[in-house]
Amino acid sequence: MRNTIDPQAASHPGSHRVRTQCRACDQARLARFLELGPQPLANAFLRSPEEFGIEARYPLDVYLCTHCGLVQLVDVIDPELLFRDYVYVTGTSSTIAEHNRRYAETVVDFLRIGGDDLVVEVASNDGSLLACFGALGVRTLGVEPARNIAALARGKGIETIDEFFSEASSRRIRSRFGPARAVIGNNVLAHVDDTQDFLRGARQLLAPGGLVVIEVPSLSEFVDRLEYDTVYHEHLCYFSVTALMRLAESVGLSVVRIDRQPVHGGSIRMYAADRDSVTEHSPSVRALADREAAEGLTTLPRFLGFATEVAAQREELIRLLRHLKATGKRVAAYGAPAKGNTLLNYCGITPELVEYTVDRNALKIGTWTPGSHLPVRPYETLATDAVDYLLILAWNFAEEIMAQPQERAFHERGGRFILPLPMPKVV
Ligand code: ZN
Repeated sequence: MRNTIDPQAASHPGSHRVRTQCRACDQARLARFLELGPQPLANAFLRSPEEFGIEARYPLDVYLCTHCGLVQLVDVIDPELLFRDYVYVTGTSSTIAEHNRRYAETVVDFLRIGGDDLVVEVASNDGSLLACFGALGVRTLGVEPARNIAALARGKGIETIDEFFSEASSRRIRSRFGPARAVIGNNVLAHVDDTQDFLRGARQLLAPGGLVVIEVPSLSEFVDRLEYDTVYHEHLCYFSVTALMRLAESVGLSVVRIDRQPVHGGSIRMYAADRDSVTEHSPSVRALADREAAEGLTTLPRFLGFATEVAAQREELIRLLRHLKATGKRVAAYGAPAKGNTLLNYCGITPELVEYTVDRNALKIGTWTPGSHLPVRPYETLATDAVDYLLILAWNFAEEIMAQPQERAFHERGGRFILPLPMPKVV
């Protein structure tokens, strides 16, 4: 991951470029509505205080395409820098494990997958989801650009090739492994700069009757719950159903079904078929797009209002932390997820207000958070160091976190949790 990358490598001139056209419709009608940066890369944890002064920072601004409604970033960081050596391993949360099990069952049932059918997952990570398909007797192939994590999956017996997925790599996969009944992309489309190329690749890999199954964070939850901290340089797109439909059309796909999922703060799962076999989006999908239009989710005013709410959240959180500090309370953070860094940096939180954070990930312990420079300490620190408040940065796992024995004990002896979003709340 990026804490194995020299922060100076991130300053290399070729590592950053700026798009001028929309990823879905190619129009140059991008309107900026939110400025969160400049910020360092959210996963560029620092190995020593000497690195504090040489961090590369890039604009972290969010745009709406006023032509097709796709919300996106225009500042693109070289994917080799972001994804070749990656640390987020999907198999680590019980919430995600349950999500994966149900995911595999739903896809197998819906597509009636059986026999020798192949399921390909793009950005398959450590193979957690494919293992659930494997348990149902399905033949699988993973495509994972992070070489370290692809090797981890292969070690568990899950066939995985380490490549970035594209139309070109898709052709090679098809000739070597055959066509796929399902091409799955779970939380990957938002990370891809050339979304059209990616989806063309998925489409051409399909067997007759096959479907592209894409899961992405949902724009409506992003806006409604003020999830601005999910914006970081890896996340290039924030999808509405409307934008997904238009994007699908542009590459010859029809959307046949949309499911909403609670995972990652609200996600949309799209099932799409080749336009040659299914010529229209399904009526239920069109109805969802109509509702988005009625809610203002496709035009600029809603997003300008969102930006105003984001600024108010920052004011409120800072006011709370300053008040706690002034009254002698000690505050630490809980977790060191990428999203936490967007929040810490946008709000300007430093060790002055939040002493440190804790994490269970051995690769992050002993580092400092990018930009905000909070020390990352072992999770066990909280058992002995009596802080008064814990700012939960991984708020999407807040229920799971607060239910654990050490955290329940913290609460019982008077400790309090701060849930930062949508508006700061002390629990
Ligand atoms: Zn567009």
